[in-house]
Amino acid sequence: MTLSPAAGYVFDPPAVAALPVAGTENLFPVHRIYCVGRNYADHAIEMGHDPSREAPFFFQKNPDSILPPGHDFPYPSATRDVHHEMELVVALGGGGVDVPVDRALDLVFGYGVGLDMTRRDLQGEAKKAGRPWEVGKAFEASAPASAIVPASRIGHPASGRIWLEVNGAVKQDGDLAQMIWKVPEMIAYLSGLFRLQPGDLIFSGTPAGVGPVVRGDRLRGGVDGVAEIALGVV
Ligand code: MN
Repeated sequence: MTLSPAAGYVFDPPAVAALPVAGTENLFPVHRIYCVGRNYADHAIEMGHDPSREAPFFFQKNPDSILPPGHDFPYPSATRDVHHEMELVVALGGGGVDVPVDRALDLVFGYGVGLDMTRRDLQGEAKKAGRPWEVGKAFEASAPASAIVPASRIGHPASGRIWLEVNGAVKQDGDLAQMIWKVPEMIAYLSGLFRLQPGDLIFSGTPAGVGPVVRGDRLRGGVDGVAEIALGVV
């Protein structure tokens, strides 16, 4: 719920987090960032988990965790083990609750690609202690992302190579078809837990091959037929 101030705010409200919309001058305003965990079997296995089709689970980053294209990734504080996770990003232009699977794609404005950057050491400590993941996942600039490409241009990709290179060497190389929970299923499931809204982003999980980055690295990745991202670690 929001209030309209009768007079004003005691300080300027924060700017709206946003991403460019490819091929236009318009911006996509970001409302929430949902991320799904362990959505590719080979990544679940590399993290030591059973890849069976259990209910999906989600965590969130903050809207201002977004790092728009054209910016380098600032290596965060309080960690010695920051990992890349290359992901397809689903951008919602519609909202709703209890959305059926066969209507879920109607909510999608478009797609992009993003990196779910992770302080793996802090996430690991949180997991071990049964604590929340925010310190591992929701730090500043933890969600570098591409421009959003309207689905009116590229449709709704269900397959396509998803890849990431670090300094020109391929580290992650999978296919959207390997997702355990497909995009419409994720949207339907999430809409049973939260009121989805225009501006919501869903980071849809990462294939195997996650690993550390260090200052000076160059990251380049993408989903074929959707978008690419390229940035340095500074
Ligand atoms: Mn992830």
